[in-house]
Amino acid sequence: MYDMIIIGAGTAGLTSAIYASRSDKKVLVLEALSIGGQIVNTNKIDNYPGLFHISGYDYSMKLKEQALDLGTEIKFEKAIDLIKNDDNIEVMTEKNKYKCKSCILALGVVSRKLNLPNEKELTGKGISYCATCDGMFYKGKEVAVNGGGNTALDDALFLSGIAKKVYLIHRRDEFRGNIKTVEELKKKDNVEFILNSTVTKLNGKDKLESIEVTDKEENKKILNIDALFIAIGQIPENNNILDIIDKDEKGYIIAKDNDMHTNIPHIYVAGDIREKRLRQLVTAASDGAVAAVTAIRELNK
Ligand code: NAP
Repeated sequence: MYDMIIIGAGTAGLTSAIYASRSDKKVLVLEALSIGGQIVNTNKIDNYPGLFHISGYDYSMKLKEQALDLGTEIKFEKAIDLIKNDDNIEVMTEKNKYKCKSCILALGVVSRKLNLPNEKELTGKGISYCATCDGMFYKGKEVAVNGGGNTALDDALFLSGIAKKVYLIHRRDEFRGNIKTVEELKKKDNVEFILNSTVTKLNGKDKLESIEVTDKEENKKILNIDALFIAIGQIPENNNILDIIDKDEKGYIIAKDNDMHTNIPHIYVAGDIREKRLRQLVTAASDGAVAAVTAIRELNK
C-alpha cells in the first residue's frame, strides 16, 4: 500500500512527489506519456524565479532526478480507473492495480485541436503540436504557427532560427502572449504575420502539402508549407478516472478550498488540470506543494 499515488509526472505531480518523499512517505507517480508534461514543449524557460535559460526538457529531467533521488517510484502506466473505498483508494492502470491512502490528481492538460478533417491523419506528417520536439525536421523549409498566446509566439521565435520562412497565423489582430516576444518577431526577416485569420483546410494525403487560411472578410489563400505547428491552447486531460470528481463546465477539476481538496476525501488536485486563472510553471509547483502538504498532514493524523 502506498501512502500516496500521484497521477501525472508534470511539474505539479513531481513537486508533490518531492514534498511527500521528503516527508518519508511511500510515493508512486503514474505517468501515461512522458516526464514533464506541457513544459517539455518549451524551448526556453524564462519566467520561473531563479531559473532561466533552461530548456523545458532539461528542467523536466532535473525534476525527475530530484524525485527519484528522494525515493519516489515512477511508473509509465496510464491510470484508467479510480475507486474510493472506506479506508483506501484503488488506482487501476492498463497493467496493474495499486492501493494507496491518498491520491493527487495532476493529470495536466493536452493540446487543443483545430478539429479539421485530415488533422489526425496528418499529425506527425506535417502537423505538430510541439515546435521544440519537431522543429528540427523542417530546417530550411517553410512552416506556419497557428495561435496568439505565448506558446505560439515562442514557437514562432524558435522556428525562425531553423526554418526558411515562418507564417504566424492568429485569429485576431492582438496577441494574448508577451509583447516583448511580439516585438522580437517583428524584427525577424523570415517571419510574416497573418492576422484576423484562421486555418480552414489542411491539404495533403501522405504529408501536409498546403493549408487554406481564411480572413474575417472570408478571403481565402493557400500557403504551401511543409509543417503547421498548432499552438491554440490546451484543454484538460479527459480521463474516466475523473468521473467521480467535481469539475467545471470545461472539465477542469474544482478544488474545494485553498488546500487542494477535491469533493472526495483523500483525493487532491494540483496543476493545470485544476480550475484556476493562471496556469504557469510557478503555479503548478505551488499547487503540487500545497496538495502534498495537505495530504501529508491528513495522513499523519
Ligand atoms: P493560450 O494562452 O490559451 O493561447 C491560445 C491562443 O490560441 C489564443 O491566442 C487564442 O486566441 C488561440 N485560439 C484558441 N482557440 C483557437 C481556435 N479554435 N482557433 C484559432 N485560434 C485559437 O495558450 P498557450 O499559448 O498554449 O499558453 C497557455 C499558458 O501557458 C498561458 O498561461 C501562457 O502564458 C503559458 N505559457 C507561458 C510561456 C512563457 O511565459 N514563456 C510560454 C508558453 C506558455 P485568442 O487570443 O483570440 O483567444
